[in-house]
Amino acid sequence: MSRTMLIAGNWKMNGLTADGEALARAVAAGSTGVGCDLLVCPPSVQIGSVGQVLSGTPLALGAQDCHAAEGGAHTGDISAEMLADMGCGFVIVGHSERRADHGETDAAVQAKALAAYRAGLIAVVCVGETEAERDAGQADAVVAGQIGGSLPNDATAANTVIAYEPVWAIGTGRTPTAEDVQAIHSHIRATVSASHGAEMANKVRLLYGGSVKPGNAAELMALADVDGALVGGASLVAEDFLSIAANCS
Ligand code: PEP
Repeated sequence: MSRTMLIAGNWKMNGLTADGEALARAVAAGSTGVGCDLLVCPPSVQIGSVGQVLSGTPLALGAQDCHAAEGGAHTGDISAEMLADMGCGFVIVGHSERRADHGETDAAVQAKALAAYRAGLIAVVCVGETEAERDAGQADAVVAGQIGGSLPNDATAANTVIAYEPVWAIGTGRTPTAEDVQAIHSHIRATVSASHGAEMANKVRLLYGGSVKPGNAAELMALADVDGALVGGASLVAEDFLSIAANCS
């Protein structure tokens, strides 16, 4: 099964307008010849300015979160429809920082993924275990539980990307071994196969996230069940992001 790889940059809450524009410009300028899909997810207030820079380039634009509702009395929130209106094609849902900082449950993440589908966006659904859960031998069970609770029944390979991001690897410079990444990605595919069928499981893109850097990307991107990366820190440096993307095939 050939799946087009996706390298996604999660800029988190970094940079001001000029920084985002410059970063987007540099990524777009260096992306010629990259053999996979590229996505950047700026802070929500920069979606408009970054979108203008990316207009006419092959880079996709995404958001880092959305509200589940289409509109209404939700101060400070942004709907999936608003993101689509601003030119987004993707939205990350259930990032571990949202789960931890905002108490987002699997049910809340599922509702956000459904909102993404309603607005015509592709949901990047994030899952991943904590260090204590891995140490307790519970990583597979935790991730399967998150998939079960966060992935809507309506999820397809066309409207969903799954990102496996062990919480303990995010922003720490630590990663699981390549063998561990392959094993849990294979487990995720089997879990999705059981819930959504073999076709979806074979086609859905599974990204690895957690301290992906130019120095470890080749090994991680070569794994059979890894279809790209969700990149945090290294996506803030165009050269590093593009160097990671150079490992796409
Ligand atoms: C992330 O937060 O999605 C992430 C993977 O961050 P980092 O690459 O910095 O570990």
